[in-house]
Amino acid sequence: MQRIQLLDAQLANQIAAGEVVERPASVVKELIENSLDAAARKIEIDIEKGGTQRISIRDDGYGIDQKDLLLAISRHATSKIQNLTDLEQVASFGFRGEALASISSISRFRLASRNETQPHGWQIEVNGREPEISNSPVSHPIGTTIEVCDIFYNTPARRKFLKTEQTEFNHIQEIIRRIGLSVFNLNLHLKHNQRQIYKLSPAVSLSDKEERIAQICGSQFIEQSLRLESDAHDFHLWGWFGLPTFSRSQSDLQYIYVNGRMVRDKTISYAVKQAYKDVMYQDRQPAYVLYLELDPALVDVNVHPAKQEVRFRDSRMIFDFVFHQVKKLLTQTKPVETQHLASPAQHPAKGMQNIARETQNIASLRPTNNPQDTQKQMSLYQSLISDAHIKNFDVKHSEQPQQKPKAREVITPIEISDTKIPPLGFALAQLQGIYILAENTQGLVLVDMHAAHERIGYEKLKKAFDTRHMITQNLLIPLSIRLSEKEAGIAEQQQNLWTQLGFEIERISPESIVVRSLPALLKDSDIEKLVRDLISDIQTYDNTQRVIEHIHELLSTMACHQAIRANRKLTLLEMNALLREMENTDCSNQCNHGRPTWVQLSLQELDKLFLRGR
Ligand code: ADP
Ligand code: MG
Repeated sequence: MQRIQLLDAQLANQIAAGEVVERPASVVKELIENSLDAAARKIEIDIEKGGTQRISIRDDGYGIDQKDLLLAISRHATSKIQNLTDLEQVASFGFRGEALASISSISRFRLASRNETQPHGWQIEVNGREPEISNSPVSHPIGTTIEVCDIFYNTPARRKFLKTEQTEFNHIQEIIRRIGLSVFNLNLHLKHNQRQIYKLSPAVSLSDKEERIAQICGSQFIEQSLRLESDAHDFHLWGWFGLPTFSRSQSDLQYIYVNGRMVRDKTISYAVKQAYKDVMYQDRQPAYVLYLELDPALVDVNVHPAKQEVRFRDSRMIFDFVFHQVKKLLTQTKPVETQHLASPAQHPAKGMQNIARETQNIASLRPTNNPQDTQKQMSLYQSLISDAHIKNFDVKHSEQPQQKPKAREVITPIEISDTKIPPLGFALAQLQGIYILAENTQGLVLVDMHAAHERIGYEKLKKAFDTRHMITQNLLIPLSIRLSEKEAGIAEQQQNLWTQLGFEIERISPESIVVRSLPALLKDSDIEKLVRDLISDIQTYDNTQRVIEHIHELLSTMACHQAIRANRKLTLLEMNALLREMENTDCSNQCNHGRPTWVQLSLQELDKLFLRGR
């Protein structure tokens, strides 16, 4: 039987290092955070061989007193907190007093520092032996330089886990990006093998900040994102959120900062994901840089050894807040006139930037209808869209009196003089039964009519469902559908759901059901196919609770069925009505799957195509 012994300090530190120092990038992170805690304005990072050979970090912070050098590298020694109350309010990056002790126990370590009370710097070295403090001063400006060489040289088991130089450097670079995205007022320089990788200068104004974000995340991101700025419930939430059409296949462009600390947080990332859900394919990932600031007492930062996670006192509230703010931001992704943008700092999509600035005379290319007559067009359009199957229906309660499409041929062009041109302009023609071509002040607008109509229908269905105002219509001749016994069973069990969705469905035999009524919006669709699709959706979400959670998927299926099919010829009136509806529908810049519904080709872009100078 072995007796119990106290571990010696070196071994204890090496064991603790396992939690703090996963790889060279973790060293870089801890050292930069120390520099920031010391109020550094400039940090220079020099890396050799992905950090496996050498990491050097120099800052201009307030430095360390000679008498504290030994303490700085001792475990559980920190200048940042003194008691539990401090821990509950902690605002510094570090507070555990572990980083330097851990790092110096698994590397050849040198720290040189000078504070403002000292005429010179002093240095401490750790080389697998007892720490040695230089007995003569070293030359050093106020601030601190730390050099970490041959990481894991004395812990061979861990050294084996190091990846290639490039991989390790990629991790370091990611750390620098994360810091660069949050500490804007900092000079941050990074070199790898003598080569300058980043030279970021302090960003003060909003446009400086956006420029820095463009440097780090790419200019595409900043051009194609919306800026959020919101204060409520003592939370300050801000950041940049990629347009749904700028989605990615991976979650590699998602940065979350809580009180300036970069974290991975499931509550926040899930809230954002849910906010995008409606405008993005399931397997696509949004891109965003998000900052949340709140009272430090409402968040526990001491839940992860490397401080990469936090715990909110009320995570439900955080979820709701983030979800609603981001969702609200995203509903603005509809065609708007530039001067109506919700926030002046917003970056509308490249295509949106160009939309209608001021009235411009387009008399020469004027379409043959009147923009003031939008209301009339809308109802006309609705009746046109619906006239196909009308004979088969008995209108139970309809939204508005149906107008007959007779007006189609007798519409006379009305002169436009000083009328404002709407964001999506006026329709010119239809291409291949798929696209609408329209002209606005910027040039040509191309609309994918099915995609656009699908979104419009989806938003209408959602609203009707939420407000329990699903308008239904009876079928003159009820439609019976043959199903498998299992499917018929599912259809029968979901009576409540069918009612909410606006259907009246009854099982009439083990293998068949009959549809008696359905939502008015869907009356022109292939009803049998629609009902089969819905049953198959319901089947995937097996039980009732999950079906309700996935109600939007069901509504989306319904929207797809009501949307105008390709090859449906539309008149100019119908096309214009569709454009106006898009302008009035939230999220209408993308279809239910996150693809764009329209694009702008500006005159400049068209000129370029024809190599035409202006
Ligand atoms: P922590 O950051 O949790 O306090 P560390 O082991 O990282 O623990 O650092 C120990 C102490 O050394 C810090 O509390 C701080 O007083 C001092 N220190 C470390 N790095 C620097 C630096 N770059 N500039 C000034 N002081 C530093
Ligand atoms: Mg620290």
